[in-house]
Amino acid sequence: MPKVAFYTLGCKVNQYESDAMAELFKERGYEVVDFENRADVYVINTCDVTNESARKSRQMIRKASRINPQARVAVVGCYAQLKADEISRIKGVDVVIGTKDRRRIVDLVEDAVKKHQQIVRVDDIMSERTFEEIAFKGLRQKTRAFLKIQEGCNMFCSYCIIPYARGPVRSRPLESVIKEAKELASEGFKEIVLTGIHLGFYGHDFGEKNNLLLEAVRRISDIEGIERIRLSSIEALELTDEFVDGLTVLKKFCHHFHIPLQSGCDSVLERMNRRYTTAQFSERIEYIRIKMPDVSITTDVIVGFPGETREEFDITFDFIQQTGFSRLHVFPFSPREGTPAANMPNPVKKSVKEERSRRLIDLSQKMEKNFRQKFLGKTAEVLFEEKTDINTYEGLTGNYMKVVASSGENLHNKLVMVILKDNTSDHLIGEMID
Ligand code: SF4
Repeated sequence: MPKVAFYTLGCKVNQYESDAMAELFKERGYEVVDFENRADVYVINTCDVTNESARKSRQMIRKASRINPQARVAVVGCYAQLKADEISRIKGVDVVIGTKDRRRIVDLVEDAVKKHQQIVRVDDIMSERTFEEIAFKGLRQKTRAFLKIQEGCNMFCSYCIIPYARGPVRSRPLESVIKEAKELASEGFKEIVLTGIHLGFYGHDFGEKNNLLLEAVRRISDIEGIERIRLSSIEALELTDEFVDGLTVLKKFCHHFHIPLQSGCDSVLERMNRRYTTAQFSERIEYIRIKMPDVSITTDVIVGFPGETREEFDITFDFIQQTGFSRLHVFPFSPREGTPAANMPNPVKKSVKEERSRRLIDLSQKMEKNFRQKFLGKTAEVLFEEKTDINTYEGLTGNYMKVVASSGENLHNKLVMVILKDNTSDHLIGEMID
């Protein structure tokens, strides 16, 4: 039986797509093995969001050729889309596919073998208008299944390469989304995480605004066996009153939003070409908190954007502290060739970016612990995912707090009521309620 191995860089969407491609190889009789093992085909699903992810992508391409010099190497994803020439010149690369045509990956790899020639399949993604469906039954590593419903982005934030790598907004037809959600339910998944590159624009290319995303959440919540629905990430202004009100009444909807802030300073937001002010962002957060008092709000922040002064950073720091997120993902700015921000004046020194990152990471840890503290002594329903030690399981509450609990019975993929007893620096300790 031929063997295929995957290495995936970047976001959850890439992970979803790698799992989908693995499924295609399995259907054609391949065994999927770990990347460190000797395989006949290596697939590197690349990312180009930062310099580091591009460097790592190249490193893994070379590593695949070292593990088995006779193997076929296929390079796919955002970096392949943007730098097809550069990648095709790397020794040992047999197939290059961008962010389209991944459903044909097995054919393309086998063609490259038969014809003894390199195949480069990278088209103009900016003119793409339909969502590429890759037959797939979900991300299987955990009890949560990621379900991709949307592709592309039209926002062109000044630092972001994604609109060039993924093309314009394309939505997956609702019936196809529901079909996959039902399959996931029948496989035993209890939680579905709706994901996409710009999820809040789901349905906009069909002429529908937030209505279709709300409709998707509603329809999935009607599926028997699905107990939870979560959104992966959504922009502040897409959380309209109507949308939030519609989600609030759905019992299965998880009270957790990941809302990228990027900067808490209006002048930096403007240079980033983000389409909101901090006042608008705060107004949305306040509305959500009124509707869902237990909500967890996590966010992304970029530090050291070109020209970010000490004063601008302090404004961001204060805004984040006042808003009180339950977790921050902090990214030091990394210029991407081809984006406006890459040529902006006054780059921030690496040491300054590191210092600002550290300050925000420290703040994040404090905010996370403070958020969890509010729930001590209360009960919560936890979906347990992993066994972390003998008789110890780890899972998540609907509002995305990590809970660890002890049990003699297997809690994997079970929804269990616990009382929250203690708050460590990383998680809550729960005790099962009979
Ligand atoms: S909204 Fe901005 S940051 Fe997000 S994918 Fe689109 S361009 Fe990139």
